[in-house]
Amino acid sequence: MKQSIFNVMRAAAGLLVAGVVFISTSARAVVVSNHLYPNRRSVTPEITLMSLPSMSPSVANPVDRIRENRITALIKKMSLEEKVSMIGGTGFTTTPISRLGIPALTMTDGPIGVRNGPQTAFPAGIAMAATFDPALIGQVGVAMADEARLIGKKMLLGPCVGLSREPFGGRNFESFGEDPFLTSRVAESYVKGVQGQGVLASVKHFALNDQEYERMTIDSHADLRTMFEIHFPAYRAAVDAGSWTVMTSYNLVNGHHATESDFLQNQVLKKMWGFQGFVVSDWEATHSTVAAANAGLDVEMPYGTHFGSGLVRAVRRGQVSEATVNDKVRRLMRAMDAIGLIPGSTVPSVPNPLGPDSIEHANLARKIAEDSAVLLKNENGLLPLDLGRVKTIALIGPSFAKARVNAGGSSKVIPHHVVTPLAAIEKLLKGRVRILKAVGVPLPDDSDAIPTEIFQPAMNSPDHGLSAEYFANKNLSGSPFMTRVDPNIDFNFTTLKDPRLSENFSVRWTGYMTAPVDGLYKIISTSDDGIRVYLNDQPLIENWADHEGAIDSKEIVLNAGQVYKIKVEYYQAGEAARALLGWQIPAANAMQDAVNAASAADVAIVFSGLGNDVEGEGVDRLTMDLPPGQSDLINRIARANPNTVLILNSGNPVTMTDWLPEVPSLLQAWYPGEEGGAAIANILTGVANPSGKLPVSLLKRWEDSPAYGNYPGVNGVVNYAEGIFLGYRYYDRAKTVLNFPFGHGLSYTTFSYSNLVINSNQSSAKAPQVIVEFTLTNTGSRVGAEVAQLYVAERAPPQPRPVRELKGFQKVTLQPGESRRVKFKLDANAFAYFNAQKMSWAVPQDTYRIDIGSSSRDIRLGQVIQLK
Ligand code: BGC
Repeated sequence: MKQSIFNVMRAAAGLLVAGVVFISTSARAVVVSNHLYPNRRSVTPEITLMSLPSMSPSVANPVDRIRENRITALIKKMSLEEKVSMIGGTGFTTTPISRLGIPALTMTDGPIGVRNGPQTAFPAGIAMAATFDPALIGQVGVAMADEARLIGKKMLLGPCVGLSREPFGGRNFESFGEDPFLTSRVAESYVKGVQGQGVLASVKHFALNDQEYERMTIDSHADLRTMFEIHFPAYRAAVDAGSWTVMTSYNLVNGHHATESDFLQNQVLKKMWGFQGFVVSDWEATHSTVAAANAGLDVEMPYGTHFGSGLVRAVRRGQVSEATVNDKVRRLMRAMDAIGLIPGSTVPSVPNPLGPDSIEHANLARKIAEDSAVLLKNENGLLPLDLGRVKTIALIGPSFAKARVNAGGSSKVIPHHVVTPLAAIEKLLKGRVRILKAVGVPLPDDSDAIPTEIFQPAMNSPDHGLSAEYFANKNLSGSPFMTRVDPNIDFNFTTLKDPRLSENFSVRWTGYMTAPVDGLYKIISTSDDGIRVYLNDQPLIENWADHEGAIDSKEIVLNAGQVYKIKVEYYQAGEAARALLGWQIPAANAMQDAVNAASAADVAIVFSGLGNDVEGEGVDRLTMDLPPGQSDLINRIARANPNTVLILNSGNPVTMTDWLPEVPSLLQAWYPGEEGGAAIANILTGVANPSGKLPVSLLKRWEDSPAYGNYPGVNGVVNYAEGIFLGYRYYDRAKTVLNFPFGHGLSYTTFSYSNLVINSNQSSAKAPQVIVEFTLTNTGSRVGAEVAQLYVAERAPPQPRPVRELKGFQKVTLQPGESRRVKFKLDANAFAYFNAQKMSWAVPQDTYRIDIGSSSRDIRLGQVIQLK
């Protein structure tokens, strides 16, 4: 196949200004390497950035000579086999070299709570970003590291910093939105929080990992400017903040598996950014031995499948040098040394972790949920509820009695406790306000565990429940080690802490069930791992394979009073262990009941959106629409009661066209974590004043998206054709009418902006130093916080640039009537664009507009400055 050559230019000398390399000399073309991927449809030579201005070792993790010597001495004592074993995993740990006193490095997911639960379930990453409060997210980092330490885990697999490129991305909820500047600030604070507690952070997934569709094979194509200016900054910020590890993505980048990308790993991360730590593969993202090893992958997870004996052989054959292996081991040991895991290293002195399920962490989770909720709309001051006048409220929808704690996949945390909106509202308002309740339309996969009174362990038995046989293997063979009657099937076995029910076991439940009413039932199983359900000996549900939490369902007509024979089989193959048999029972008048409740109330509060498992790792949504029936429900309730509030759970934009004009108050609550219900109740009642801002533009329809036409890709390739125009950078240029713009979020109070003063005296494009000051005043009658946003726009750019770009923000809490001077210092980072020809950042001599606003489309102050 024809080979093309990337004329990637490079430059010789660099000037480092606040983490940005500015190049002053000219460039010349370089040739690229020739990797062949037999099974791919395209053969793309990998980009090679030769003779990069090699940045001095990372600012955050400088080379420590004593540490290097200690590591060198250990490496000298290791056989090749030992070295190679160290850089291949054993599930969620690296392999120890006990002979030399080197322990395993133990890992856990990240990124929104410690996965090995029960632990504190924090709000989703997108909610963390919506706080626009990096310092607060630093505290989450501290708290998660604390919980990780408590269970002996030394590396947290987060933060997740992929950008929201399109509104379907299954993992958009895990990361921090569409803007590289906001994402970077949150990521660096997160990393410092985690690592300050002696736990390693792992920024993920490098790079261009913005969709789940074909996630293992999709090939993301982007040009250099797009990568460096939009998609790389958050990784760079995390590395500069000291992140000792970087996780690769599953996808390919410009034709090469991330794990085999010399460009990403060796050139950008290690050479250009001076990264001293180790690159870890995503779980099963490694596809080769020699290519991955030489391209800069350091540690293969979960197992040393390619880095095992294959790597030993490759070294012996001279395909990979032993020096390369030594460098990988050194990088891993540097990171371990930093947290005191290498013989002779200093154990960082950090405070003792708080106990499990600490009130402090629950309070932090609630604070983030409160501070991240975005009040999108609030006509006539409907919120906070006027409890002097509101005597009856109707709670409607699928999500007032079910907490939408987090979405699905490896970030899912099993919490110690969950506060539903219903529980919190009842706690606050019981006795003062009459509370009506009606689900109206459930989410498709919502289920309640089938209750014990429906089951009998044997025909005509007076008892309730199901006969259970527990086997010490995965295939229900031999004699059970335990038999008993279980009340129903609703188990999180891992939380039981029973060693017999932790791994590799199976269960068979048998008995009878009696249907309470006539009609169409939805039988729903949630399982991790395999499950199969039989009714009257006929297979009803079958998902008999290893998997993470999966929901399966089947609709079936059952007759009231009829007895059905039931058998459920389940096995567990490692990690999480969940078995739930639930149902949705026929409810003929559910919609009318909801409308009636709304009509009878002073205020109707609808809790809708996406469910815990509608969004999640491994799958992208197919539509921006709410699940079936939800728009209809919202519309009917809004028509029945003009005082309708909608609380929306989602990690991505959803279609609002049908109902937005009808709903006077709208609160975007994301996935608010274990204390989400309490946070929502506090906001509804005015105990808390919302201060979240949108980290992602809420577009009206998919056709408006910059990725439209270039997602999910053609023939396995997704082209980032929008270039640097992602999110509001695109919408502002295209003048797209949005539902709500980036940075938007209302408060129960109001703010004014005044007296802008900009000091750019003698500021040159070479080394800009611009001081921006203005006065922010709380002009309302409640204490509240405003996120003041600073955007920069180049006025006559010689190359395409966005209308404006976020380059500063501050969250300021003000008492009623209080004013504060808000100050920003801008350096070259605020004005630079990435010049791909010169492979360098550049600040053009030009005039620039500094915009200060309450959102990207609510600019309150502005002034033009000149950089000469
Ligand atoms: C995910 C990672 C996660 C890893 C370990 C992978 O499937 O992509 O984000 O850290 O699993 O659970």
